[in-house]
Formats: sequence, structure tokens, C-alpha cells
Amino acid sequence: MGVTLPPFEHTSSGAIPDICSKIRKSYLSHKTRPIEFRLQQLRKLYWGLKDNEDAITEACRLDLGKPSFETYLTETGWCMNDIVFVCQNLEKWMADESAPDIALTNKLLFPKIRKDPLGAVLVIGAYNFPIQLSIGPAIGAIAAGCTVVLKPSENAPNAAAVMEMIFKKYLDPTCYTVIQGAIPETTAVLEEKWDKIFYTGNHIVGTIIAKKAAETLTPVTLELGGKNPAIITKNADPRLAARRLTWAKIINSGQVCVSQNWILVDREILPQFVEELKKVFKEFYPNGAKNSPDYGRIVNNRQWIRLKKMLDETKGRILIGGTMDEADRFLEPTVVQVDDVNDSLLKDESFGPLIPIYPVDNLDEAIRLANEVHDTPLGVYPFGNKKETDQVLREIRSGGASVNDGFFHASIPTLAFGGVGTSGSGSYRGRASFDCFTHRRSITKTPGWMEGLLAIRYPPYHGKTKKY
Ligand code: NAD
Repeated sequence: MGVTLPPFEHTSSGAIPDICSKIRKSYLSHKTRPIEFRLQQLRKLYWGLKDNEDAITEACRLDLGKPSFETYLTETGWCMNDIVFVCQNLEKWMADESAPDIALTNKLLFPKIRKDPLGAVLVIGAYNFPIQLSIGPAIGAIAAGCTVVLKPSENAPNAAAVMEMIFKKYLDPTCYTVIQGAIPETTAVLEEKWDKIFYTGNHIVGTIIAKKAAETLTPVTLELGGKNPAIITKNADPRLAARRLTWAKIINSGQVCVSQNWILVDREILPQFVEELKKVFKEFYPNGAKNSPDYGRIVNNRQWIRLKKMLDETKGRILIGGTMDEADRFLEPTVVQVDDVNDSLLKDESFGPLIPIYPVDNLDEAIRLANEVHDTPLGVYPFGNKKETDQVLREIRSGGASVNDGFFHASIPTLAFGGVGTSGSGSYRGRASFDCFTHRRSITKTPGWMEGLLAIRYPPYHGKTKKY
């Protein structure tokens, strides 16, 4: 492609306290308060992404073998679209809100909610959508008037280096900066004082972050994973389900937090569903996924080996796929029929292109099993008639849901996105991104002339009301 990418270099741990203190001082200088400043920085970020679209595409290709179409759809275009939406609405979101439904006397206090920025915030990104999951939360933080330290995932080093270059070249360096590194550097960053920590990644590290934040009562938003069920009832359209759920698992080679981890299928429709899956695989990849420019790779050898182990240990029957190539970090989308909830493919979130299918006798069994395996997944995907899909939404909790589809809800830029229970807490995107980094500060202003009216609140209380 002829793009030269900047090098990825870890930030020296010794430099981290000074970097963070500079970002805090800038927040305290109130530089990020005016809307004009925020909009200017967001527009610059937009142009940083637009001008460097080729570098981002190349970085995502090197890190994840990501097809350029997917990079535009889920990284560059995604973030640019979010910036436009935020810029169009920021003035409205920032405006004071008056208190609703209040007595006339209270109106005299001009009660309102002011939208204050939370302060100096830390955003820790994950590797699978390296740009979207780092820049996305940062957009909300900039819009809210916070200063930001971004710590991208070291597991997508090329994307991390491009983001650092964009921050340096396009944004105010005293307010927004990137710290690069892995566990030691992130641990050092977590020693600093933050007004909010926004973390995307696995639940084990999520727990570490939450514990560390609790020491200083720092608020956190945790965007974690989970074992998301798709459920196909006997009344579902098998072709539709096969196309949509295959798409949800082949995009980014299944390295998607919201894609289904298993598909619970009514036995009555199972043969047709498997036949449709076979057809869809042929349609999507006529020459096989390995030879297709439209299929990515697993991020690194460690993750590839983890996925291979899951597949090696399964007691299930491979129905489609199963080929792999370590040198290329290739793993074919693989459909496996399993019948034990303790199977290696169901014990942990696969976070790869493994598609376990679990036959069930009826919808009630599917719902019971889904709740047993994970009672608060990030997403749930029911296919069936309205009565059935309504029952799934009612009886399975989840961060979000797409009815008759795989994770499509997550692509709507104005819908808040987030988990519940062990799949995360807090949400972002659209208005929720602004709210995520905003303190809703209640304010009243009592006029001096009201003192006479207020005398009733002062002791002695005797005789001020009939009863007391
Ligand atoms: P990862 O390896 O990129 O790690 C995420 C971040 O955690 C990185 O920035 C990394 O440096 C940091 N980190 C790692 N160890 C740490 C430690 N000990 N202390 C502090 N920080 C540390 O990504 P991952 O965690 O492997 O991501 C996969 C998981 O994330 C899956 O469970 C997936 O479902 C989930 N995920 C969730 C979302 C969401 O929006 N809910 C999005 C993407 C991924």
C-alpha cells in the first residue's frame, strides 16, 4: 500500500507520573471547558482519522489481517461518524437542564443540572477493534470537556502507534496524550489519580481495574465480554439465521465481544439450519476463507494457540471447517455440534471464529441453559416468532440484544452500548458517551430577598406546623 507506519514504542515507566500530572493540570486550567475548544479538537480528530485512513487500514491489516472494508466499517468510518454525531448535538447536551415538575417556590431558586466534565480520565483500549475501542470512548471524553490519557492495546501495536501519531499531530498535546505499553506501563498508569477510568477488555483485568479504582473511589466504566447465546426456535427462518449469524462470527475472524458464543437450536430445525450454514459458507467464501481477501487473522500466536486448544479439546463433532495454519495465524470459521455445557468450546468465551451449535428440545430448555452458562451476557440473539423472541428478551438478561440478527444493535451509533452484571457496567456511544464522562451537577441559587419566606425552616420549630 506504500504507507510508512510510525514505530510502536513503550512509554518509559519513569515518564508516566509527569505525563499524567500535565494532563491533570490542563484539566484544572479549565482550558477544555468552552464548547468551541471541544468542537475544534473533535474536528481535528476527525481530520486526523480522515487524513490517515490509509495508515489505519494498513495498521489493522498488519495487526489483525483486517480487510479494508471492515476497517472502514468498524474503525475509521465508525469513529468519524460518531464524531459528526457528537459535534451536531454537543451544544444541546451541554446545555443546563432545569428541574422538572417543581413547586412555584422552588422555581425561585432556579434549580438546574449543569453538565460538568468529570476531569482527567484514563481510557484503556482492547486489541480487537483497536481504533474504535480507543478513539470511541475518547470522543465522549473530549466532548464532555475532560482531558484524556489513552492507553491503547499493545496487542495491536501498529494501530496503537498510528493513534499516538494522530494525537500528537492533530490534538492539543497538553490535554490529550497516548501512553503506550503492556502490563507494567498500565500498572504504573493506574497508580496515578484519575477522575474516571474507562476500560475495555477481559473480565479478569476488569476486576483488577475495578479493585484498583475502588482504593481511591474512582468511578469506572467496564466494557467486558461474556458468553453470548443465539437461540433459534423451530419457527425461525433457517436461511436468515444462518446468513446473519455467520456474518456475526466471521467479521474480524470472530474477535468480537458481542458476537454469539454458542447457538442453541431447536432439534426440529437443526438439519435445515446446518444445511443453510454450509451454503452460506460457500457463498461468502467460494474459494475458502483462507484464500479470501475478506477474512482476517487471529491477532497473535498466543491467542491462536488458545483457540486451537479449545478446538483440540472439544468432545463435539466438527460439521464445517476446522482447518488452521499457525504460520499465518489462520483459523477457519468452524461449526461444531456439542451436547455438553462443560465442553471446552463453552467453558470460556472463544473470542474467535468457533461456532458451537447446541441442540435443544424447546425454547424453555434453551433459555434455562443460556442462563445457566452465563446469566448476564453482553448480547443475546433470538430468532423465531414474536412471542418466542419476546420471551427470550424477558427471561434472559443481557447488555443488549438483536432480535433476528447477530449483534446489529451494537452498530447503531445513537444507541448506548454496554454490558450488565459480569459483562460490564456503564455504557457509551451517542449521547451516552457524553454522559459517561459528565457529572450531572445539581445547582440552586437562593435570592437574598427570600429570607422571609425561608424563615419557616429555622428553629425553634414549635408552632410552625399543626402536627409537629
Ligand atoms: P487486550 O489484550 O487488548 O487487553 C485489554 C487492555 O487491558 C490492554 O490495553 C492491556 O494492556 C490491558 N491490560 C492487560 N493486562 C492488564 C493488567 N494486568 N492490568 C492492567 N491492564 C491490563 O484485550 P483482551 O482483554 O484480551 O480483550 C478480549 C476481551 O475483551 C474479551 O473478553 C472481549 O469480549 C472483551 N471485549 C469487550 C468489549 C466491549 O465493548 N464490551 C470490546 C472488546 C473486547
